[in-house]
Amino acid sequence: METGERTAIRARWVLAHEDGRPTLLEDRWVVVEGGRIAAVDRGRPAGCDVVVDRPGLLVLPGLINMHNHCFTELLVRSRTEDMTSAFMENGLVYGLLMPLGKLAMERLSAAERRAALRLGVLQLILGGATTVMESFRSGLADVFAVAEEMGIRFWGVPYVFSTPDIDVDTQGKPVFGGAAGDGTADIAEWRALHQRWAGAAGGRIQVGLGPHAPDTCGPDLLRAVRRLADETGCLVTTHLAQTKSEVEHTRRLYGRTPAEYLQWVGLLGPDLSVAHSIFSTDADLDLLKATGTTVINCPRTFARTGTWAPFARFAERGLKTVIGTDGYNMDLVSELGAAGQIAKLHAGESGVATARQLVDAVTLGAAAALKRDDLGRVAPGARADLTAIDLSKPRFQPQSDPLRSMVWRGSAADVSATMVDGRLLVEGGRYLPADENAIATEGAAAFEKIWSSPEGAAIRARAG
Ligand SMILES: [Zn+2]
Repeated sequence: METGERTAIRARWVLAHEDGRPTLLEDRWVVVEGGRIAAVDRGRPAGCDVVVDRPGLLVLPGLINMHNHCFTELLVRSRTEDMTSAFMENGLVYGLLMPLGKLAMERLSAAERRAALRLGVLQLILGGATTVMESFRSGLADVFAVAEEMGIRFWGVPYVFSTPDIDVDTQGKPVFGGAAGDGTADIAEWRALHQRWAGAAGGRIQVGLGPHAPDTCGPDLLRAVRRLADETGCLVTTHLAQTKSEVEHTRRLYGRTPAEYLQWVGLLGPDLSVAHSIFSTDADLDLLKATGTTVINCPRTFARTGTWAPFARFAERGLKTVIGTDGYNMDLVSELGAAGQIAKLHAGESGVATARQLVDAVTLGAAAALKRDDLGRVAPGARADLTAIDLSKPRFQPQSDPLRSMVWRGSAADVSATMVDGRLLVEGGRYLPADENAIATEGAAAFEKIWSSPEGAAIRARAG
């Protein structure tokens, strides 16, 4: 949906795209018209319907969050921190996220599902993201309608599975239940969602292909996904090497690492982005690089479990490396700082994962992974997706480098404005289209309903 409005935003600094690269300019006005950036000017423009005139704004290309789960991570929010590694190693993904996600779909009404999803999308938008790539079970396809309603740019990725019923046994090892099928039903469902949603809301809504992970997707299914990607031109995203058990599983079944397995079935390539690659070997990373596959680094979701997810391990190797929040904290601004600090600690080297590299990963780099040269940049003709950070606050002073100020000191609390397709979604730090507090209350109530069900209580008791 485009507005015909002409909007101007005063930028103390703007990361503009000049001479083919991001360039920091001072004291400019960013002018937006018809959903696109019209100009980056020095003087205050005339004839604007909306003027955002606040001091100290750093105006950036709209930040792109490349991996997220609005729903499943909110399900366990504040319930999984501080648990032991022995539990978290398999228990988080297989013992909580997956069975709870399935339970939620059985327990919640359509209205409750939407309320829950609104809470997640709200947090993404307030966290500075104008675009998200969101992976979910196809039973949560309401998220397309919620994304359309709430204004975010959205790549919705309904999972396809061979073995969707996953849990853990008494030893904490994953158990793959259900018939190990070829995912035919999931693919039929995916086609219907693709038909319904690809290109909706004036192109703001897109559909990606989402084989869940190497240990939940068999070779026939993954080959079918490759054919479908080639047929439709849709992007593909999956989890890769996110647990040790996944590595053991592909080794046992196929005699390959997870990355080798995806290569064997033909899935690696420039249209694929893989979340995590935590337990990938260096040779695996070289394979990903050689095939043009993008790695999505989600550092904080792993930091919670005491596991390294160092941005620089991928970026310094020359891999296309982007960043996602994985639903854990849907605050993309502070995820950048965490990504940098975790990478520097891991490398023992302060010169890696610089503020500019990290900003690039959530703007131009991510836009390239999405195959969109009209996103990730502030330049005339580009889509008017913007994120503005309020650097006028005392704790940012003094400053000489606004990108460093934002990355090393900023958070969602400093997001002053977000705009998608020329529509201001956040201004003055508030979500404009609807009541934030009502969204929060209704969303939280839906999650509480799942935990207070008998099955939810049983899972809680088991998790301790
Ligand atoms: Zn994930």
